[in-house]
Amino acid sequence: MIKTQNWIPDELHILLRIADVLFECFFNEITTRKNFKNEILHEIEQIMKDIKVHFEFFAPKTSGGKWTWKSLMGPAKKTILEKFPVSTFILGEREQKIELLWREFYRLYCVMKKENLTFDEIDEFEKDAKNWVRLFCCPTIFCQKRIIQEGIYRATDVTPYMHVFAQHVPQFMRQLKQRGLSFRHFKTLSIEKKNHEQVSIFNLKFQLTFTKFLLNIGKVILWWNFNGWWKT
Ligand SMILES: [Zn+2]
Repeated sequence: MIKTQNWIPDELHILLRIADVLFECFFNEITTRKNFKNEILHEIEQIMKDIKVHFEFFAPKTSGGKWTWKSLMGPAKKTILEKFPVSTFILGEREQKIELLWREFYRLYCVMKKENLTFDEIDEFEKDAKNWVRLFCCPTIFCQKRIIQEGIYRATDVTPYMHVFAQHVPQFMRQLKQRGLSFRHFKTLSIEKKNHEQVSIFNLKFQLTFTKFLLNIGKVILWWNFNGWWKT
């Protein structure tokens, strides 16, 4: 087992995977609206254009299926978290809170990547990140059958990435600071790219080997046929 001092979570994946959950929660909710196809869809695509993000919805392939959307890269996800006006689509306290969730996550992500943070700033980050998870899964509260606080998402929607973000990242930030480092020094973007390239090379090699394998099987079958073994 690797000691906790000897590894750190990858900031890029924390951003990508938590953003995925936020977008999925929001889009899954909004695509079920009656006026989604005729109104909301076009409004969202226009806003994405305005904030310079290439975005597109795809209609469900089966009746009763879900709408899907174009997969997004890191920079596009950051722009959406920072600028997309969630609260213009649904007016209410809950939607303002959802917008706050997006903005606050983006702000905290930027803090996480900062160099030369003080220990006080890291303490502040820890407090804010924990509050962020609390807000994400804040429950609906009833008082005498009347809703006095609308919930956001369920506690079961909280992912391991969110847990790492609030519960472990601050501790890693402190350890790195003690060694004069920060999360910034551990970007895996280039490794990811290499990994992607290697996977592509691997796939190509595999395809070639597999084709050779099929050709060989073909030869064996032909040989069998010639020898009439298959009849016996
Ligand atoms: Zn843990």
